[in-house]
Amino acid sequence: MLQVRSISKGYPTRSGRLVVLREVSLTLAAGESIAIMGPSGSGKSTLLNILGTLETPDDGRVTLDDCDPFSLSQRELARFRNRRIGFVFQDHHLLPQCSVVENVLLPTLADRQGPSELHRARELLDRVGLADRLEHHPAELSGGEKQRVAIARALILRPSLVLADEPTGNLDRSAADSVAELLSELPRQDESALIVVTHSERLAGRFSRVFDLTDAALTARS
Ligand code: ADP
Ligand code: MG
Repeated sequence: MLQVRSISKGYPTRSGRLVVLREVSLTLAAGESIAIMGPSGSGKSTLLNILGTLETPDDGRVTLDDCDPFSLSQRELARFRNRRIGFVFQDHHLLPQCSVVENVLLPTLADRQGPSELHRARELLDRVGLADRLEHHPAELSGGEKQRVAIARALILRPSLVLADEPTGNLDRSAADSVAELLSELPRQDESALIVVTHSERLAGRFSRVFDLTDAALTARS
């Protein structure tokens, strides 16, 4: 489903080129979940941003559902990203002026799916335990609840791939546990693959495949 072949990425700096990813490869089957760990500044967000098509690799190839997203036009890429990839960030990135259910429906605005959308949004919010918060606004929710809305939003269009960058990084332990549990279960129920970047051994421990990103290289833990 996802194939990453030998991608490299670097940034120019005053003291020369900073290599962040060096020939990183990774294959993910449909519906598979993995965790990526690594020290701060090791390139985890850069890798996730490339897989999310928000940044372009300098070298190598990425295919998602047999499509090379970097060969698409800007317009096709925006549509591809919205439909195929769900994002959960460390900060929830909810729109403050929209209600919970409106936030979950946001991805459908650019990609109309018909009258089933509202039903699916309600069902997802039920699954993340927020059935009685549909009309709340983000400011009226706890940090953990906001992340659960973000998970529902990421899944609304049944993406092939969900990317979560330190999704429990800003949460206390009990909120982090409930978000971790949902993240390790919901995408799988929906047959979405999931890549979670985390500092938390507790969260990573929920996944059977864990990788370390260190010295620009991705290695599987044995
Ligand atoms: P992580 O998510 O593992 O903490 P990042 O992927 O955010 O690491 O960053 C990896 C390295 O690349 C860091 O040293 C960071 O300073 C550098 N970096 C990230 N983005 C840029 C950029 N746009 N320009 C220059 N350097 C960058
Ligand atoms: Mg990061």
